[in-house]
Amino acid sequence: MLPAVANREAADAATDLDRLLRFSPSVAERYESEHGRTRASDLRRNALVGLLVYNVYNVTSWFLMPDIAVLGLVLRLVVFTPVALLLVWAVGRVGAARREHLMLAGMVGGILPTVMLFWLTQAPLGAYSFAEILLAIMFGNIVLTLRFPHAVVVTATSFVVALLALAVKPGLDPGLGVALALQLATTCGCSLYANYQMEARRCRDYLTGLRARMLRDIAEHARKRFEDLSQTDALTGLPNRRALDLCLDTWLAEGGRVALLMIDIDHFKPFNDTLGHPAGDECLRRVAETLAASTFDRADRLCARYGGEEFAVVLRGGGSAEAIALAEEVVRAVAALGLRHPGRRDGIRIVTVSVGVALSARAADVGQANPKLALLAMADRALYAAKQGGRNRAVGGKATPPYFLKAG
Ligand code: GH3
Ligand code: MG
Ligand code: MG
Repeated sequence: MLPAVANREAADAATDLDRLLRFSPSVAERYESEHGRTRASDLRRNALVGLLVYNVYNVTSWFLMPDIAVLGLVLRLVVFTPVALLLVWAVGRVGAARREHLMLAGMVGGILPTVMLFWLTQAPLGAYSFAEILLAIMFGNIVLTLRFPHAVVVTATSFVVALLALAVKPGLDPGLGVALALQLATTCGCSLYANYQMEARRCRDYLTGLRARMLRDIAEHARKRFEDLSQTDALTGLPNRRALDLCLDTWLAEGGRVALLMIDIDHFKPFNDTLGHPAGDECLRRVAETLAASTFDRADRLCARYGGEEFAVVLRGGGSAEAIALAEEVVRAVAALGLRHPGRRDGIRIVTVSVGVALSARAADVGQANPKLALLAMADRALYAAKQGGRNRAVGGKATPPYFLKAG
């Protein structure tokens, strides 16, 4: 999951990088989930290469510091190598932070013996082994590409310890000491700079991609929201006429059976006239709630506001029995609301609805080639018949006998 952001500023804030090239916690987690495995296997491979090179210096020690070559062999091969192999083994088995710390520890643990050997040797060519310290620093910063804060720690530690060794090494020519110190400083500076450049590129490339993905998600979210709004009726919150049309087009195109219930509130004009339009709006909302409940949140049913005080329910795959049963349920449920309707003159004192039911299987009966228009026309006729029949009822079929499925 991308870190959830609502707008462009939030996307920018979430993809900020601090001066030590560290991601925000949520982005760091995201990065790790996407790149952690690759990073671990890269580290493992590069660390093994480094370890191999490190042990090559057992051979150079034989020529440069024969006085302590055995000590070098013990430190490198017997002490450090097994520990380093253990670290390499652990790298893919621990979390991101611990993995990077292990690398830091491995680098410091590898450089310290090298400095110590340089300081200890009294062999005439011993000073040449200083290059091994420089190579180790470069290895950590450039080949291993330690995370920048860790590269700073390793470089600073190596710099201080190696400088100290140069300062206190007995018998070192002062001029050579200065030259080596300068080599040390420039190696530290250059390789740390290279590490910064590589790490900055890695982080920025990732963040650019991540920001683009976040902005795409924001745009998609907004598009979806606008689409929802454009298909939602503002008063009742039901899908609107546009959504109904879309649904009918889609379901009819699928070729299966489709049933349509056209629902109209009875004598709604006098309701408004006696109780006022705000009460009328509230009545529409209550009826809409009841109708929405009748679709039971099912994917094969849609309840929409058709317009004014008319609603529609579409059923996919349902037969006439299911459609009629639902229509009757709707009539009963609205009446059961018991909404007071003092403006009626037919003796009923509550809000009721009439329902016309049409089935796509009979669409040809109305002589309309377009299946959606045929279905709407058929439902409209049935609704008209329900009104004619006395309202507060459901009528199905072509609305002329013998197509009445049932009159309530
Ligand atoms: P019938 O039983 O034949 O359907 O009679 P009716 O009075 O319901 O039908 P008519 O078409 O004469 O009146 C519909 C009324 O619905 C008129 C209009 O003021 C009202 N109406 C339509 N949309 C809204 C709305 O959004 N809010 C309110 N309060 N009234 C609305
Ligand atoms: Mg009407
Ligand atoms: Mg009406």
